[in-house]
Amino acid sequence: MAGIYIHIPFCRQACSYCDFYFITRKQLIPDFVDSLVNEIRSYEGKHYCDETIQTVYLGGGTPSLLTEAQLKHIFASLYETFRIEPLEITMELNPDDVTPEYLNSIKNLGITRASIGIQSFRPELLSFMHRAHTREEAIQALEALEKTDFPDFSADLIYGNPGQTVEMLQEDIEQLLVFNPPHISAYSLTIEPKTRIGKQVELGRVKPPDDDEVSVHFDLLRNLLENAGMQQYEVSNFSIPGREAIHNSNYWNHHNYLGLGPAAHSFWQQDGTAVRWVNKADIKSYLKGEPGDYMAERETLEPVTLAEERLMLGLRTKKGVEPSILDKQYGYTFSSAQHNWIYSQAERGTLIFENGVLKLTPDGLKICDLLVVDLLTKR
Ligand code: SF4
Repeated sequence: MAGIYIHIPFCRQACSYCDFYFITRKQLIPDFVDSLVNEIRSYEGKHYCDETIQTVYLGGGTPSLLTEAQLKHIFASLYETFRIEPLEITMELNPDDVTPEYLNSIKNLGITRASIGIQSFRPELLSFMHRAHTREEAIQALEALEKTDFPDFSADLIYGNPGQTVEMLQEDIEQLLVFNPPHISAYSLTIEPKTRIGKQVELGRVKPPDDDEVSVHFDLLRNLLENAGMQQYEVSNFSIPGREAIHNSNYWNHHNYLGLGPAAHSFWQQDGTAVRWVNKADIKSYLKGEPGDYMAERETLEPVTLAEERLMLGLRTKKGVEPSILDKQYGYTFSSAQHNWIYSQAERGTLIFENGVLKLTPDGLKICDLLVVDLLTKR
C-alpha cells in the first residue's frame, strides 16, 4: 500500500505559531498548479507507478484556496499517471473557505475526508493565533459538513495556548463534540523560535504555559474525548473506533509515499533499499518546473535508522511496537541497558511490555518524546 502527499503552500495569512512552509502570494497559484502537474507527470513510466496508491493527502498551507477547476486538473493528472485505487483521499480545509457548494464540488472530485483547521472557537484565541477564520465560520463549516453529508472528517484543535484556561478549552471541546466528529487531531501549541509567537516569547511579551498546565489541558482533552466514545490511537490523534486516519497511519508503519510540491518529503523502500528525499522549501525553484531544480536532499537509510524510526513512530501509537519485527526486518535488538530501562519504566507505569508488544501507557504517551529519546540513547 502506498500513498501520495501533495503540499499546497499557499495561505491567506500567516498564523502566529506556524513554522510550516507556506507563502501568502496567492497570485502564484495558477503557475504552481502547472508546476505540480509537471511534477506529477515526471513520474510517468517510473517504477513508482507500479505500486497501487491507496491514499492521497492534500495538505499545506491551505489546499482549500484552490478552485474546483484547479483541483480537477491535479486529480486528472494523478489518475493518468499513477494506479490509484483510493481507500482515503483527504484534503485540509480552512473554515473560512468551506461552503456547502465547495464541499459538494470536492466530494464530486473523489475527496472522501475533510480535515478542518478549527483550532479554537474562542475569538480572542483565534485572534492571538492570527487565524483567518472566525468562531462563526468554524461553526458554519462544521454545519456545512453535516448538511452535505460529507463521508468523513477530522477537526484540528489546539490546547496549551498562552492565555487559554481549562474552562476555555473545555468549551472548545464541548462545542466541537456537538458535531460528533469521527476524528480529532489535537496539538499542544509549540513555540517555534522563528514564528511571531516565538518572537513575542523571546521579548517576554507572552508567557507560555508551563508543563503542568499543559498536562492538565491534555488530561481534560483525553477525558472528554474518551467520554464521547473516542480513543487516543496516537499521541495527537483521537477517533471513534474504525475511523482512524489511514494515510497518517501508513507513515507510522513505513509504507511508501511520494511527496509532491515544495518542501514535501518522500519515502520509498524497494528491494531492500529505503530512500528518503525532500523538495526544496522554495516556490521560485519549484516554479522553474524541473525536478532537478527543486529536489533538495536524498538519502539512503541504513537499517538501524529505519529500526529507530519504527520504534519512535510506533511508540507514539496505541498499537506500540513489536521488537521481534525490528529484529527480523532490520537486525535491531535491544542492548542490556535498553532492557533495564524498559523494566524500570514498566515499574514506573510509563510503558507496558507484554505479549511481545512494547507500548506506552496513557501516562507514558504524555511524555512520549522524552521517553523515546531516553530509550534510543541507551543503546
Ligand atoms: S493556515 Fe496552516 S499552514 Fe497556513 S499559516 Fe496557518 S497554520 Fe500555517
